[in-house]
Amino acid sequence: MIVMKFGGTSVGTAKRMEGLAERVRERLPRQPVVVVSALSGITDRLIRGARLAEAQDGAWETVIREIQERHHAVIGELFPAGPVADRLRGQVALILSELRTFYAGVHSLAELTPRTLDAISGMGERLSFEIAAATMADRGLPAQAVDARTVLVTDETFGRAAPLMEETQARCEASLRPLLGRGVVPVLGGFIASTRKGVSTTLGRGGSDWSASILGAALSAQAIEIWTDVDGMMTVDPRVVPAARVLSEVSFTEAAELAYFGAKVLHPATIKPAVEKGIPVLVLNSLNPSAPGTRITADADGTAGEARAIAFKKGISVVHISQPRMLMAYGFVARVFEAFDRHRTAVDLIATSEVSISLTVDDAARLPAVQAELATLGEVKVLQEMAIVSVVGRGFIRRPGLAARIFQALREVNVVMISFGASDVNLSFVVAEAEAEKAVRLLHREFFEEGPP
Ligand code: ADP
Ligand code: ASP
Ligand code: MG
Repeated sequence: MIVMKFGGTSVGTAKRMEGLAERVRERLPRQPVVVVSALSGITDRLIRGARLAEAQDGAWETVIREIQERHHAVIGELFPAGPVADRLRGQVALILSELRTFYAGVHSLAELTPRTLDAISGMGERLSFEIAAATMADRGLPAQAVDARTVLVTDETFGRAAPLMEETQARCEASLRPLLGRGVVPVLGGFIASTRKGVSTTLGRGGSDWSASILGAALSAQAIEIWTDVDGMMTVDPRVVPAARVLSEVSFTEAAELAYFGAKVLHPATIKPAVEKGIPVLVLNSLNPSAPGTRITADADGTAGEARAIAFKKGISVVHISQPRMLMAYGFVARVFEAFDRHRTAVDLIATSEVSISLTVDDAARLPAVQAELATLGEVKVLQEMAIVSVVGRGFIRRPGLAARIFQALREVNVVMISFGASDVNLSFVVAEAEAEKAVRLLHREFFEEGPP
C-alpha cells in the first residue's frame, strides 16, 4: 500500500479536488490511503477567528461566514443539488455550529487555551476530508471517509502533539487494514489526532505531512507521496528565488535538515517515521502531475561534497549571555541550558567564545521567563526578528575554501552569528530578518546559478 497526502492548494478548489481523484484513480492498484489538508487558507482563518474571539472582537462572526461560503462554493461546484450536496452542507453546518460555540466561549472568557485552539484549528481538516471522500466516491472510486481522530493517537502536548506509535499502529491495523483488504480507499484529514481519552489535538502547523508519514510507517507503506504545489524539493524556496531548481534525489538527512531549517515544503518531523521503516518519501506536484518530483531515500547519493540547497527560517530570537568571570567555570554552561530546559524552550544554534555564549530560539513564547533566570548568571541581550539561513549538503562542509565562498558572497550582509562544524550536512548563520531574502538570493546565485551576476 501507499499513502498519498494532498496539501491545502491541492484540495483548495473544486478543480483541484477533481485532480486529486484522478491521481488516486491512477494508483488504485497500489492500495492508497489518502490524507488531505484543510482547503488552502482555512487553518489560518480558523486561528485568526480564535485570536479575535480572545480579544473579544466580534469579527469572528465574519470568519465563520467566510469559511462557510468557501466550502459551500466548492461543494456547489463539485455536486449537483441533491442528497450528496445536502449531506456535505449538513456536515459543514454541524462543524461550524461547534466552531461558533467555541468562539463564543473564548470570547466570553477572553481566554484561549492551547487545548481549545487545537479543537478550533483542526476543524479545517474535519471539513475537507468528507468533501474529498465524497468527490472520489462520486467519481466511481471506492473511497470511505475515516475520522483521523479515531486512528491517530497522540500525547497531550496541545499545539504540537507527538504520536503514540504503538497505539496508532494498533488502530491502523484494526480500522484501515481491513478497508484496504476490501479494496476501499480510506480518506483521512491530516494534522488532526486525539489523545487516548479522545480529546482533539493537532500535530503543529504543516502537520499533515507528518500524519501521512505516521500512517505510512504504521501500515508499512511502500511509499509516502506528498502532493503539493511545486515540482518537488528545490534548491531554495521558489517564491524567493524563481531560479530555484528541482532536486531529483535527496537523502533523508538532507531533507530533514532542510525541513527543520525552514523549507516549508515538508513538515520537519515527516522524515523520522519514514527513516525508521526505510520508506521512500516522494514530493510531487498536483498541478503538474507528470513531473518526476523529488525522491527522498536513505541511499540517495552521488551528491556528497556539494551544496545542495538553501533554507531559511524567520522569527528567530538570538540570546546572548556574557559573563567574563564565569563562563568557562564548571557548571556555567549547564546552568544556562537548565534555564532553557526548565521553560521547555528549544535551542537551535549555539556559538561560544571565552566570555560569552549565543543561542537561537525559534519559539519565544517562554523567553521572558528564561531571560529572567539567565539574568542571575550574567549579562543577557536578546535580539529579535532574526533569521537563520542554512546551506545544506552532505560532506560539503569540509571542503577547503567553502567558508570563504559563503562569506564572500555575503559581504554586504551583516552576519550576526555562525554555526559551523557541528554537522557535516549544514552550515547555518543568523542575519536580521529584513536581510534574509537578500542573503538567500546571494547564496543561491553563488552556488546554483551559472555565469556572472
Ligand atoms: P502544502 O499546502 O501542499 O502542504 P506548503 O505551502 O506547506 O504546501 O509547502 C509548499 C511550499 O513550500 C511551496 O509553495 C514553496 O513556496 C515552499 N518551499 C519552501 N522551501 C522550499 C523548497 N526548498 N523546495 C520547494 N518548496 C519550498
Ligand atoms: N492545515 C494545517 C496547516 O495549515 C496542516 C497542513 O496543511 O499540513 O497548518
Ligand atoms: Mg505543508
